[in-house]
Amino acid sequence: MTSSRLRPLIAGNWKMNGSRALTTELLTGLSALRGKQPDLAVDLLVCPPAPYLTLAAQLLQGSGIALGAQDCHAKASGAHTGDVAAPMLADCGCSAVILGHSERRADHGESSEHVATKAKAALDAGLTAIVCVGETEAERDRGATLDIVSAQLEGSIPADAEAGRLVVAYEPVWAIGTGKTPTPDDVAVVHAHMRSLLKAWFKDGAEMRLLYGGSVKAANAATLMHVPEVNGALVGGASLKADDFWGIALGAAG
Ligand code: PEP
Repeated sequence: MTSSRLRPLIAGNWKMNGSRALTTELLTGLSALRGKQPDLAVDLLVCPPAPYLTLAAQLLQGSGIALGAQDCHAKASGAHTGDVAAPMLADCGCSAVILGHSERRADHGESSEHVATKAKAALDAGLTAIVCVGETEAERDRGATLDIVSAQLEGSIPADAEAGRLVVAYEPVWAIGTGKTPTPDDVAVVHAHMRSLLKAWFKDGAEMRLLYGGSVKAANAATLMHVPEVNGALVGGASLKADDFWGIALGAAG
């Protein structure tokens, strides 16, 4: 049983990893695992790098596993060399896009205001926006976690967001790819705080799924996924192996 009545979402962020061969092997394996337990009460989403989205869409046909991307531009088209527009992602078979991941905030200087314009573009294109927030280690050490999360949430979510197409991922930066995780109590405090903000801002804020992300593995998934107000996971490294990713899905559903 998960901590709330919302159906868990397990989303895999492949980051800048993969190849045609890995995409084929991983998604063939994951589809087979899902096919053996189609009734497992968990939604699965995979977010490969942009060049592999079309291949992934073909491989996922009929699998019940959704496809997402890792970023989009705020504009629907135009002179933006190297960028990818939200309608293009929808055209390639995506139903969701990750936005404001801490690696993009750090590597590309994305502000929350910028993330909100991208999220608006995603919603306008019919995609679900998965908006990431989270504090750095220094921010945590000075006791600023809730302030940072509040400010990022308030700045990154468009005013017309709806529960069906807005997901928030709490990802402490210091937990991403490090093997470190907050305690379940610490996660509970942040998720309760985010839930209260979303309920205050949106009439359907109680229905918005709140993911935890940061070193989620099959071994810790059941514990983290049972924290109150945790409605799934955003998974990096462990999403690159079908068995590992599926193990997290089992932990979330169990
Ligand atoms: C992520 O990249 O969103 C992430 C949570 O990574 P990892 O699971 O590897 O910590």
